[in-house]
Amino acid sequence: MQVFDMIINGKPVRAGSTFDVVNPATGEVFARVQAGDASHVDQAVAAARAAFPGWSRTPDAERKRLMHALGAALEAHMPELMELVTKEAGKPLGGLNGVGSGMEVGGAIAWTHVTADLELPVEVIQDNDDARIEVHRKPLGVVGSITPWNWPLMIAIWHVIPALRAGNTVVIKPSGMTPTATIRFVELANAILPPGVLNIVTGESGVGSAIAKHPDINKIVFTGSTPTGKNIMQNAAGNLKRLTLELGGNDAGIVLPDVDPKAIAPKLFGVGFHNNGQTCACLKRLYVHDSIYEKVCAELARIAKETVVGDGLVEGTELGPVQNKAQLDFVQELVEDARAHGARILSGGKARSGGGFFFEPTVIADAKDGMRVVDEEQFGPVLPVIRYSDIEEVIARANNNENGLGGSIWSKDHAKAAELALRLECGTAWVNEHGAVQPDAPFGGVKQSGLGVEFGRYGLEEYTSIQTLKIMKA
Ligand code: NAD
Repeated sequence: MQVFDMIINGKPVRAGSTFDVVNPATGEVFARVQAGDASHVDQAVAAARAAFPGWSRTPDAERKRLMHALGAALEAHMPELMELVTKEAGKPLGGLNGVGSGMEVGGAIAWTHVTADLELPVEVIQDNDDARIEVHRKPLGVVGSITPWNWPLMIAIWHVIPALRAGNTVVIKPSGMTPTATIRFVELANAILPPGVLNIVTGESGVGSAIAKHPDINKIVFTGSTPTGKNIMQNAAGNLKRLTLELGGNDAGIVLPDVDPKAIAPKLFGVGFHNNGQTCACLKRLYVHDSIYEKVCAELARIAKETVVGDGLVEGTELGPVQNKAQLDFVQELVEDARAHGARILSGGKARSGGGFFFEPTVIADAKDGMRVVDEEQFGPVLPVIRYSDIEEVIARANNNENGLGGSIWSKDHAKAAELALRLECGTAWVNEHGAVQPDAPFGGVKQSGLGVEFGRYGLEEYTSIQTLKIMKA
């Protein structure tokens, strides 16, 4: 059994007790991780604070070089990291449409290199005979990062790399359910970075709230559920920490009547079901025009029945297990609620017997707004399909949700679709696509899906504060 240590100030640290990490494909423990507590958060923050002056004054070119070295280290350990991600998160090595741990580690590498090359240039606002005014971007200090279980390594990279690139030091706490790939990354990074620049404390929500409350942390970047995000916001108020919150989504997609149901169904299925629907910006509510409704539903159900569900370590698996038993039970509850309220379960609808937390890909027809499976984020392999006939009405229904992460319009008429997409209340709107993110385009939620953005220059700037410098010449 592999036992993973925390890393504080460049050294492995044990807590005296450990907790188990379960492989959701088998339901069995495959690793043990240190059960850290608030005292380890204190140690890690002290180390990060001590490392901050040196790291923030490191020449920019050197920081950039070290960020690229982190990308190279991820690449050199890709098979090992992929296996850890598959074992802890359940996602296949390959996966549906190539969305699996190979994509997760590959994405982590790509994000690292692209973010390494981002710049924070000084902006000159005024330069005349009277004065010169410059706007500088300065690092904030110590950043606390708290990550979820669905894309554990990728999201750790999304937090850590821009924070370090901008000159901050970091204390990260991964989800207790999926900590191993992140710990391994932090180990690899500590062979490259000065001690204390990147620290990891493992544990459950107590460690998370100790980070959120800590008086010597300057910013929290959090990805996870909306209720936890609100709790972090309250706890962060003590010293007015800066916040980036990437929270839950319940993304709507609207299919216009001009599409070919057969051609579009595989795309819709991919964006709804990849990673078992356990992606913040998966398609979670699908509105289809009445004229093609039955055809789209039938195609989606056919694909669902053909999808290969199994252990992610086995080649050819398209969807793995749901990541944990509580999530599996929640998904089952939503499906039963839909069934009880008159929805038609066209495929799946139940967990698989035997080991592991497997749930059959489930397409639900005659789903309606007001059903739990539509109103709540399922975060599982379940897609409710909702009928509409009036475009104005469906835009209003899509927007009638407290979440606002992503949304999409599907049509052959790109101009009309783009016009409608801009009316969706969400941080990213796609046309003929859903959930696709890239390291140079900002991504974040509106309404209760979050605060701030990640990626690209806009994301990098969130790890800085502005200092205005005015030089009088007269
Ligand atoms: P979660 O909120 O339960 O946990 C996330 C992290 O917060 C874990 O590390 C957990 O230990 C920690 N935590 C729990 N309670 C805490 C507290 N009181 N204070 C501080 N930390 C605490 O979320 P989850 O179930 O791991 O992840 C699933 C959710 O994440 C979904 O809602 C999903 O939509 C969302 N998500 C959002 C994005 C995005 O970019 N918007 C990306 C991925 C996932």
